[in-house]
Amino acid sequence: MKCWPVPSSSSKKIPLPDSPGSFWESRSDGHHCGVDIYAPEGSDVVSVEDGKVIDIGLFTSSLWIPYWNSTYCVLIKNTTGYICKYAELQDVNVHVDEQVNSGQLIGHIGQVLNSQNVTKESPSYIKKLLKKRKLSMLHFELHKAFPIQSKEYLGGNWYGSKKPRHLVNPAL
Ligand SMILES: [Zn+2]
Repeated sequence: MKCWPVPSSSSKKIPLPDSPGSFWESRSDGHHCGVDIYAPEGSDVVSVEDGKVIDIGLFTSSLWIPYWNSTYCVLIKNTTGYICKYAELQDVNVHVDEQVNSGQLIGHIGQVLNSQNVTKESPSYIKKLLKKRKLSMLHFELHKAFPIQSKEYLGGNWYGSKKPRHLVNPAL
């Protein structure tokens, strides 16, 4: 990474294995596909490398899971060939096919969790985030190729048995 994706975040380190928000963290019946960088809603998110925006889409929605707000994701293919997914954004400042430089603003962190809709039945990692008031974060994924759209993937978690082939641990 040429630069850290959330310049204002208090931690400039990728979450350690098995800590909350770490890569491949076990979460109820799924696994976490990226790393979470906690920061206040509205914090700037910048591109970590030079690259090109290849896709923008809806990432979470209350229509899918009631304790989610609507957030968006941006996929950037870096000049290194790897693809970064920046997710749980409240807005997006780039467009598809735009060339971006490392450090360029691509969007702002959104509040992904709607605390009013977290219930006793919600997964324990969600209840823990609520307790710590960690309701907003950048969800960051790294891929070797364009992520395959799959029914086994939702909101940054993977519900299949085999790890997706192109997924990379951003900590390595
Ligand atoms: Zn995440």
